[in-house]
Amino acid sequence: MYSESISKVIWEDVLDADIVFISFFTFAAPRGYELAQYIKKNSKAIVVIGGLHASMNYTEAVLYCDYVLLGEGDESVLEFINAIKTGSPLDFPGIAYKKGDRIISTGERKPPENINTIPDRNLLYNFKKMAGHNTIWAQVHASRGCPHSCDYCAVVRHFGRRVRTRTPDNIVEDIRQAIEFHDRRRFPRILKILWITDDNFFAERDWAISVLKAIIASGIKYTFTIQARYEVGFDDEMLSLLKQAGFSQLAMGIEFLEDDSFAQFHKASNYDDIVRSIANIQKHGINVRGLFIMGADNHTKGVGYRLAHFVEQHDIRGVLIQSMYFIPGTPAYEAKNTQLIHKDWSKYRGHVVHHPKNISAYDLQKEIIGASRRIYSVKNTIKALLTRTWNEKLLYIGECFWQRSVRSDLKRELPNLK
Ligand code: SF4
Repeated sequence: MYSESISKVIWEDVLDADIVFISFFTFAAPRGYELAQYIKKNSKAIVVIGGLHASMNYTEAVLYCDYVLLGEGDESVLEFINAIKTGSPLDFPGIAYKKGDRIISTGERKPPENINTIPDRNLLYNFKKMAGHNTIWAQVHASRGCPHSCDYCAVVRHFGRRVRTRTPDNIVEDIRQAIEFHDRRRFPRILKILWITDDNFFAERDWAISVLKAIIASGIKYTFTIQARYEVGFDDEMLSLLKQAGFSQLAMGIEFLEDDSFAQFHKASNYDDIVRSIANIQKHGINVRGLFIMGADNHTKGVGYRLAHFVEQHDIRGVLIQSMYFIPGTPAYEAKNTQLIHKDWSKYRGHVVHHPKNISAYDLQKEIIGASRRIYSVKNTIKALLTRTWNEKLLYIGECFWQRSVRSDLKRELPNLK
């Protein structure tokens, strides 16, 4: 397996394969298609594209490959390989392909029920070498699906609203292996953080509690981070367990600061609850990182300033600020399809890609840049370096560099938006 975020692809290896599977998110689709066409041109391999973007947008993906695998690939990848090996017809659910001018789809596939799989991290070429880098955190994914239905979210469209979970023992073993993989090396990592990458880990409360108890009982001493909705901030038992298990930070999908925006995108959330939730999480000794979206219909000039002020006022530790993104297949995409500036998917990663209702695209991009600049100002940097723990200082410095590169990226796009 190769990931272009980890290393270069060894082409001699890939080009003599019988089947090549390619997967990517929306922003990487142009690169994924480029690779698919290169492989088709230079080898005899059957090229299969899968993953979130291709599944939700298979009529596009199918133009660049032989087959698209729809939905989760855990089981269909094996079924596909076996069918090719034995020459059986590719007629099982979850396949799309082109036949002449027609696009054939065998329909949706039932998602796998058993997701108790610990990934073999050694299968990813050069991952072990990169795993020591401080920007590459150990990761474990414990559940799939989310019962909510926010209009812009592709997670729920791809994984469904029914939450499927791994067993606590299986998750703890995966955490153990992930830590060993990332830490056993000549020069140990400075920042020892493991990210539980679930989109909504707390959706199944009893299960979440049992996982946290299993982590505590395992005796693993590590620093964890996880994404969360605001409701977790009202659950004192959960917060105590999170603290005991070693969770130092919750990345909260705050998204907006106005109730109108929550309503516009059907996000079950409100400003007052978010503020109360943040305060209670912090009372339990856990930091809150803020994930924000700009570009709702009611956003006007000054939205960036308000966001930065909120972050400072509520001692939010670290932010991700993105313009509203529109993943094909989501209700947000359907609603705003005609207001998109372009469909260059490579820009669908936080850049402004639509004409917002009450602010120009150019000004909105400037608001995002301004908010980041203010949050990571010299004054706030000095304050962070004087008051935070060593781990938090390192994280802050890393964030400063990362935010700087994000801002330069956004700035490069300004002339086009103008
Ligand atoms: S709560 Fe989070 S994961 Fe669930 S639908 Fe909304 S944005 Fe997606």
